[in-house]
Amino acid sequence: MPTFNPVKPGEKIDLSKLDPADSSFFEEGKKEGKKQLTKLTEKLEILQELFYAHGKHRLLIVLQAMDTGGKDGVIRHVFEGVNPQGVSVANFKVPTPEELSHDYLWRIHKQTPSAGEIVIFNRSHYEDVLVVRVKNMVDKHVWSRRFDQINAFEKMLSEEGTIILKFFLHISKDEQKQRLQERLDDPSKHWKFNPGDLKDRALWDEYMHAYEDVLSRTSTAWAPWYIIPSDRKWLRSLIIADILVKTLEGLNMTLPDRTEELSHITIE
Ligand code: ADP
Repeated sequence: MPTFNPVKPGEKIDLSKLDPADSSFFEEGKKEGKKQLTKLTEKLEILQELFYAHGKHRLLIVLQAMDTGGKDGVIRHVFEGVNPQGVSVANFKVPTPEELSHDYLWRIHKQTPSAGEIVIFNRSHYEDVLVVRVKNMVDKHVWSRRFDQINAFEKMLSEEGTIILKFFLHISKDEQKQRLQERLDDPSKHWKFNPGDLKDRALWDEYMHAYEDVLSRTSTAWAPWYIIPSDRKWLRSLIIADILVKTLEGLNMTLPDRTEELSHITIE
């Protein structure tokens, strides 16, 4: 598969010009795509075990999207085979009073991965320049300086050995409508329906604008953003799985060599 490129630092982004149903990255269709995805998730399983055993790197995956964008689907489909011991998910909801009484990165830093670990952020510190901005939860002068703060924070994590990959799951407003409608129509999906999501939907354009700023101002060499066309669920998962596999393969990890140490052991 070709390499899927991240947003270049400072690149101007107009999300209305990026088609969420774009399939030019993989033109062989859904059936073949699903086959490839299975192969990639199998590879990921092996690479994750190696990552854990190798124990030298940390991997942080950030998932951001509008409601129904597919964050949960990515977590389920891309990571289905991996060993839960080395992978965890951190969900960031409306901050608790304790979290709010600290700086906004306090709750984030605590959940970053340790050596050998992969952590998936289901929402993240980016909420503090997205929902917080769109809903005027803090003044502009407060949220606007956070782009630099976030870049500096991620740079520190990266310099200390954390690999950071950030995925924006780009869906269209129409696709969201369909997915929300499915949740309404199917009683087994009612638990997922949150009337509050409709308020965010009404602010779609404001969110897109806020996302455009996030993508162009915080995609860096050390923590790139990938804009994933996500109207097609299989394609979204396929692209993400491919990026992850390529990133992990690029680390050229080897299992710790214990041949010498173990060569003297005899099991009676
Ligand atoms: P999800 O939609 O991720 O499955 P929820 O339905 O529980 O989970 O939504 C979490 C909510 O928490 C979202 O509406 C999100 O905007 C909000 N949230 C997350 N982080 C913050 C934050 N820092 N400040 C305000 N709201 C936040």
